[in-house]
Amino acid sequence: KRSICISTSGLRGCFDRNGHDHAGTAQKACGLQHRCRGKRKDHRAFLKAERMAVMTKIIDGKAISMQIKEEIKKEAASLKEQGKNVTLAVIQVGDNPASCVYVRNKKKGCEYIGIGSLSYELKEETTQEELLSLIRELNAREDVNGILVQLPLPAHIDEDTVIREIDPKKDVDGFHPQSVGALCIGQPGFVSCTPAGIIELLKRSGVSLEGKECVILGRSNIVGKPMALLMLRENATVTIAHSRTKNLAEVTKRADILIVAIGKPKMITREYVKEGAVVIDVGINRDQNNKLCGDVDFDDVAPLCSAITPVPGGVGPMTIAMLLNNCMESVRK
Ligand code: NDP
Repeated sequence: KRSICISTSGLRGCFDRNGHDHAGTAQKACGLQHRCRGKRKDHRAFLKAERMAVMTKIIDGKAISMQIKEEIKKEAASLKEQGKNVTLAVIQVGDNPASCVYVRNKKKGCEYIGIGSLSYELKEETTQEELLSLIRELNAREDVNGILVQLPLPAHIDEDTVIREIDPKKDVDGFHPQSVGALCIGQPGFVSCTPAGIIELLKRSGVSLEGKECVILGRSNIVGKPMALLMLRENATVTIAHSRTKNLAEVTKRADILIVAIGKPKMITREYVKEGAVVIDVGINRDQNNKLCGDVDFDDVAPLCSAITPVPGGVGPMTIAMLLNNCMESVRK
C-alpha cells in the first residue's frame, strides 16, 4: 500500500491512507511525538528515521546503577561478616538546595547498600581553617574509609586547598591531584565517579570501546578530562572539544561515541551527530518549562544514533553507584 503523509513538522510522524500511524513502534521506542503530515520525500526520509529509531537502544542508567548497587550490597554484607565495616563521611557547608539533594541521595545510597555514613552539616559562615581541621580529624580516624566534601563550597573557601587536604587514600570523589595523577599515568587510584560511571554504562550496555573514535565535549576537571583519560585507558581514540573548538559539528560528527558534558540545555542536535553513533549525555539542566533536560536534544538525536542515554535516568544515577563503589574500593585494597 502506498503511504501518504502531509507535512507540518518535518520527520516527526506519518500516517498511511487509512490514517494509521505506522510509526507507532518508533514512537514507543524513543518517545518521539508524531504530529507530521508529510510530503512523499519527507515520508521516505521519515521511514529511514523510523527504522533507525526502532533500532536505537535507550541506555537505562537507573537499571544499571541498581544492578551495581545490588552487587555492592552483597559485597558489603560479606565484608561485614569478616568484621570489615565501611563508613563514608559527607561534609556539606551551607545549604545550597541542589547540594542538599545530592547529599541526601548519597546518604540514602549508603543506607541502601548497608554501609555507614557520617554527616557533617556545617554553617555557611564556617571558616576554611575549621573545615580543614575537620578533614584532618577524619583523615586520622581509622573507622572512616571515605571523605566527601560536597561542592560547590561558599566563595570564601578555596576548593582546591580543601580537596588537597583530603587523604588520597580516602578521596572517594577522585578529585585529589594525586588521584588524577595516578589516573593519568595508569596507576591504581580513585577515579572521578561520573566518568567511571559512564565507562560502566557503556561496558554493561555491550558497547565496545577499543579502537573507537571517541569525542568528549567539555574539558572540566571532574568530567571531561578524567573521561578522556579513561577512554584512552580503554584504547579508544580520543578527541576533547570545548568552547574554543573550531567547526565543532565537524569534530563531533567524527565520533563513534560522543560524550557531552557542557551544561548547555539541548544544545546538541542531529547536526552534531554521526548516524549510528553512541551518545552519552552528562548534562543536568532545566529547560524553559523548568523540566530536567540534558545537553543533548534527545527527541532530535535519538532516531539517528545506535544508543543514547536519557536525562533523567541515564548518567545521573551512575554517579552515586560509582561513589559507593569507591567507598568499597577503600576496603578492598
Ligand atoms: P563545566 O562548566 O565545568 O564545563 C563545561 C565544559 O563545556 C567546558 O569545558 C566548556 O568549555 C565546555 N563548553 C561550554 N559551552 C560550550 C559550547 N557552546 N561549545 C563547546 N563547549 C562548550 O561543567 P561540568 O563538566 O561540571 O558539567 C557539565 C554538565 O554536566 C552540567 O550540566 C552538569 O550539571 C552536568 N554534570 C552531571 C553530572 C552527573 O552526575 N550526571 C556530574 C557532573 C556534572 P571551556 O573549557 O572552553 O570553557
